[in-house]
Amino acid sequence: MRTQVAIIGGGPSGLLLSQLLHTRGIDSVVLERKTKGYVLGRIRAGVLEQGFVTLMEEAGCADRLHAEGITHDGTLVSYGDELFRVDFKEHTGTPVVIYGQTEVTRDLYEAREKSGGKIEFNVENVVIHGADTETPYVSYAVDGEARRLDCDFVAGCDGFHGVSRQTIPLDVRREYEKVYPFGWLGILSETPPVNHELIYANSPRGFALCSMRNENLSRYYIQCSLSDKPEDWTDEAFWQELKRRIPADQAAKLVTGPSIEKSIAPLRSFVTEPMRWGRLFLCGDAAHIVPPTGAKGLNTAASDIHYLYRGLREFYESASTDGIDSYSEKALARVWKAERFSWWFSSLMHRYPDQSEFDLKMQVAELEFLRSNKAAQQAMAENYVGLPY
Ligand SMILES: Cc1cc2nc3c(=O)[nH]c(=O)nc-3n(C[C@H](O)[C@H](O)[C@H](O)COP(=O)(O)OP(=O)(O)OC[C@H]3O[C@@H](n4cnc5c(N)ncnc54)[C@H](O)[C@@H]3O)c2cc1C
Repeated sequence: MRTQVAIIGGGPSGLLLSQLLHTRGIDSVVLERKTKGYVLGRIRAGVLEQGFVTLMEEAGCADRLHAEGITHDGTLVSYGDELFRVDFKEHTGTPVVIYGQTEVTRDLYEAREKSGGKIEFNVENVVIHGADTETPYVSYAVDGEARRLDCDFVAGCDGFHGVSRQTIPLDVRREYEKVYPFGWLGILSETPPVNHELIYANSPRGFALCSMRNENLSRYYIQCSLSDKPEDWTDEAFWQELKRRIPADQAAKLVTGPSIEKSIAPLRSFVTEPMRWGRLFLCGDAAHIVPPTGAKGLNTAASDIHYLYRGLREFYESASTDGIDSYSEKALARVWKAERFSWWFSSLMHRYPDQSEFDLKMQVAELEFLRSNKAAQQAMAENYVGLPY
């Protein structure tokens, strides 16, 4: 089989790239290791930057997002019983949109299927060959049958545990990593959100986040130990702990109910450089990870896709390699800023095992500064709604 762009990974990065390329008549094939049902069942991101929304519009996939997405003009931040709001609209003129990653992925799958896009599920043993030549190809197997996909370019959209990053030789690849000494225990429940905007809470018992997917679907997180397992936490224990970590007036109005999903995510900051090797381009979680504080993971994946899509368009439409040649540099410049913001916000909001009394005072001083200082709020708002592409 032959295509112009082989895309490894049928998560949001791979699907968005494939659909965008399709709008310009550029052919691609997506290779996904899991089933469609499995990919759609992964509960992950929920906060979309305007840049992401614009890309979905460009891909022709934004109708449901516009109809069902919830616009947020700001967010709440609490420490102890103190609560303040950072107004995105006032500081940047831009809101964010609440729309689950599962819904984004569903819309993209539907669009790809409608336009006859080729997606192979359950692929195994994916190997990228000749990425440093002009004739790369991908070998893989489906149901034990060996297959080969010849292409002009390979987009590595296969997440943190994929094969694409590992294809770049170790003497070329440089990796930067910070692993945080805690995780997030998250639950999804069919209950109305405690507040119409997100609440990020710094409490003496650890971080908490009150988030949502829609008016009757709430997503809550609490900071937990890395040794905890989801089954260690009954729903009752989770709700009790969450109530202790958010301001008393919010806890009093929290509606609880059975969890329909419960999972623990470790927190990590990670970047690999470069994001291009020959004709292989890394996108999204294949190249970088952020801790979810600040909701930058999916959004940073989208900015990679923006740069790569434009580069590939330039290549096919005007035979220019400028866009693909500058892909890694441009993508990384924005990635590192998203990494900084996510690291800063995580450091501000969590309890660390080795935190001294001095460190705790610094957190409170910074939160009080953020609460009272317009410039600090503006900086946070600009980063939260997403820096320009
Ligand atoms: C609990 C949690 C909460 C999050 N919250 C947010 C948030 O609020 N906002 C935000 O912006 N981000 C958030 N994120 C991050 C966001 O979910 C990711 O950044 C996003 O999924 C990245 O998309 P991707 O397509 O690059 O990678 P993935 O979603 O990981 O998709 C990669 C795909 O590649 C497939 N694959 C892997 N290996 C292979 C292989 N060898 N061959 C073929 N296919 C392969 C995988 O099965 C997968 O489908 C969160 C993440 C977690 C875990």
